[in-house]
Amino acid sequence: MMTSTSGRECPYLVITGSPGNPGVIPSSYAETQPARKEWRRWEARNFTDFSFFTPKTMVERNKKALLDLLNKDGNSECADCGCGDPDWASANIGIFICIDCAGIHRMLGAHISKVKSLRLDSWSDDQVEFMTSTGNLAAKAKYEIHVPPFYHRPMAKDPQVLREQWIRAKYERMEFQYLERQTYLSGYKEGFLWKRGKENSTFQQRRFILAEEDDILKYYQKADAKEPKAAIKISELNANFTPEKIGNPNGLQISWVKDGSTRNIYVYTEDGKDIVDWYTSVRAAKYNRLKVAYPGGNDADLVTRLTRTFVKEGWLYKTGPRHNEPYKRRWFTLDDRRLMYFEDPLDAYPKGEIFLGHKSDGYKALEGVPPGKQDVGNSFTIRTPGRDYLLGAETEEERVEWMDVLRKVFDRPISPQDSTAAANLVHKRGNAPVLNSILGK
Ligand SMILES: [Zn+2]
Repeated sequence: MMTSTSGRECPYLVITGSPGNPGVIPSSYAETQPARKEWRRWEARNFTDFSFFTPKTMVERNKKALLDLLNKDGNSECADCGCGDPDWASANIGIFICIDCAGIHRMLGAHISKVKSLRLDSWSDDQVEFMTSTGNLAAKAKYEIHVPPFYHRPMAKDPQVLREQWIRAKYERMEFQYLERQTYLSGYKEGFLWKRGKENSTFQQRRFILAEEDDILKYYQKADAKEPKAAIKISELNANFTPEKIGNPNGLQISWVKDGSTRNIYVYTEDGKDIVDWYTSVRAAKYNRLKVAYPGGNDADLVTRLTRTFVKEGWLYKTGPRHNEPYKRRWFTLDDRRLMYFEDPLDAYPKGEIFLGHKSDGYKALEGVPPGKQDVGNSFTIRTPGRDYLLGAETEEERVEWMDVLRKVFDRPISPQDSTAAANLVHKRGNAPVLNSILGK
C-alpha cells in the first residue's frame, strides 16, 4: 500500500489493487471528483473485467450497488426536479434526488423522508434492497398517480417555493394519491393576500376571489366593500413567481393588459402552500376554459398557454428616441415577445413596452450602437421597424445574455396568439408602425 511518507493523508491517491495483485476498491480515495476520474481512467487502462474485485466491506459493496442503480431507467435524473446526476436519496421513499431537493426533503423531517448521501453515508443491506425494489419510476407511479395536467411540475431553475411545495404535495400531503386533497379543483377560491400598494410600496391584506365560471379574479380594497377594486379576466392574466424582485420567498406577480398597457400587481401569502394553491387555481381555471374553447386541443399544447415564466429580467441603461438624451437606468422584463421597461421593478405599469416581432420584419439585436451615437458601454441595439433602441448592460456577460435571448425571439415565427398580444398593446407609445407591419396593415 502506498502511503505518504510525511504522515499526512494523500488527498487523492491510495491505490491498493494492481493488475498483478487485485485488491479492494479504495472507497476513501474516490470521494472527490478528480480522484474518481483518475481512478476510472486507471481502471479502464488496466482492467476489462471488474468482477475480480472483492469489496472489502459491506459498506463498500452497498455503495457500489447503489451507484449501479443510478444506471437504471428513471434513476439518472432527480425524482423531483429532473436535473441530472442525483447524488442523494430518500431511503424510505426509495428515490434518487439532487442535492437541492435533498435539502428540501430534510425540511420535511425524517418521519417523512430519510435523506442519505449515496457516496458519503453508509447503507445497510435492507436499505439497498429497498432502493433496488423501488427507484424513481416506481415512486413516480405511486406518488404522482393523479397529478392534474395543469399542475406545474417544477424544474431545477424554478423558485424554491414551487419546488418545496411540489415535494411536500407528493410525500407529505400525498395530494396526488387523494383527489379530495387537491383544493384547486373546485374552480372557486377566496382568501386574503398581501398586495403591494400601487402608489406606496407597503403591502396590505386584500380579499381576493377567483371564480372560474365567470372567468374572473377580483380583489377588494376593504374587506367589506361591495364593489371589487379590480376584476381581471383569468383567461387574460399571467401569474409568475418573482420572489427576489418582490422580496418575499412566496412573491407572485400577476400581470394583464389594461387599456393597451401591461398592469402588474405583486402579492404573497405567508404560507407557501396557499400561494402555490392560488397559482395552481389560476392554471386550473385557464386550463378548463381552454378545454371548452378547444375541445380537440391536446394537453401538451394547452398547458404551455397557462402561465409564462419571464425569459429574462434585469437592469439596463437606455436612451430616448432621439438618441442624444442621457442614458437612464431601467428595469427590463422580457415576457415572451414583449419587452417592458420600468423605473422601479415593482411599478404597476411599465414606462414603455416593445413588441418583438420576427426577423423577417426587420427585428435585429446588434452589438454596439450605430456609428456616431453615444455608447454607454457593454452596449447593444434593438432594431425594430419603428426605431432603434440603444441599450447598455452592466457587464459584458449580461450583454451577451440579452442579445442571445432577443435573437431567439426574433428567430421564432409569429403565432396567432402573438398577433393578439401585439394588437392589445396598440395604444402604447412607439408601437404603431411595428403593429402595422405585424398585423399586415
Ligand atoms: Zn432535484
